[in-house]
Amino acid sequence: SKAQPRKPDWLKIKLTTGEPYRELKDMMRSRTLHTVCEEARCPNIYECWANRTATFMILGDICTRACRFCAVKTGLPTELDLQEPERVAEAAEQMGLRHCVVTSVARDDLKDGGASIFAATIQAIRRRLPLCSVEVLIPDFQGDLESLKIVMDANPDILNHNVETVERLSDRVRAKAKYHRSLELLRRAKELKPHIPTKSSLMLGVGETIEEVLQTMDDLRAVDCGILTLGQYLQPTPTHLAVERYVHPDEFARLKEEGLARGFSHVESGPFVRSSYHAHEQVKSAAAA
Ligand code: SF4
Ligand code: SF4
Repeated sequence: SKAQPRKPDWLKIKLTTGEPYRELKDMMRSRTLHTVCEEARCPNIYECWANRTATFMILGDICTRACRFCAVKTGLPTELDLQEPERVAEAAEQMGLRHCVVTSVARDDLKDGGASIFAATIQAIRRRLPLCSVEVLIPDFQGDLESLKIVMDANPDILNHNVETVERLSDRVRAKAKYHRSLELLRRAKELKPHIPTKSSLMLGVGETIEEVLQTMDDLRAVDCGILTLGQYLQPTPTHLAVERYVHPDEFARLKEEGLARGFSHVESGPFVRSSYHAHEQVKSAAAA
């Protein structure tokens, strides 16, 4: 296989620890809680936790799909833990979160794709932490609109669903997901609850052209998606999809301008940006929009 480009300097260091991070870290160590932030070794963890933002993965850690960029294990999940919503809410409360992101593997084995557990998790967090904003980063539920409605009826503060890449590369990069099905999901979410901001994310550096990124922005705006995040794809292990190129920070900055010019209320764009990075600020800007 083709040699990958060398990692540029701007991706080499990102460290700022601080008191709030250490506090949460100690607490996490003393309890058996799991965040995506820790498990994915997210480079933003110091900053996010200092801002009291964290991401939880629900519905287990085994996915029914096998996207080529993703490090989550593939298999047939067995568990459906009805206590999970309460446990996540308890963890969010103990961490004193101001913004909580809830995401999951794709549970194509479940009739509702896990939508009812998403809804129960939103409700459980609301009960314990009424001031905490809740963002859900949902799978595509295989395009099932009933499942989407279950989630929307629980009134998340942000409905997030990632297209991940441009249309041309979608089938190659994402297993089973479909570019237009994802757009349709975002469109329907907005139709069901016009006041709830929708959000999507692209990882750059998998072979897309800038024109294709701009086209994807247009496609997202056409379904009234209001928040966009753009980050650098990093290969989790050597067997995963190779990095095609490292996008320069200046290019990320230009893409942010392009996004804002297209009417997104909030665009996070940079090498370390992940779907939930600075998510607490997106709630504010979406509310102000
Ligand atoms: Fe956690 Fe998301 Fe922040 Fe990373 S960007 S630390 S996964 S909340
Ligand atoms: Fe990973 Fe999501 Fe793809 Fe599953 S559906 S392999 S969790 S990106």
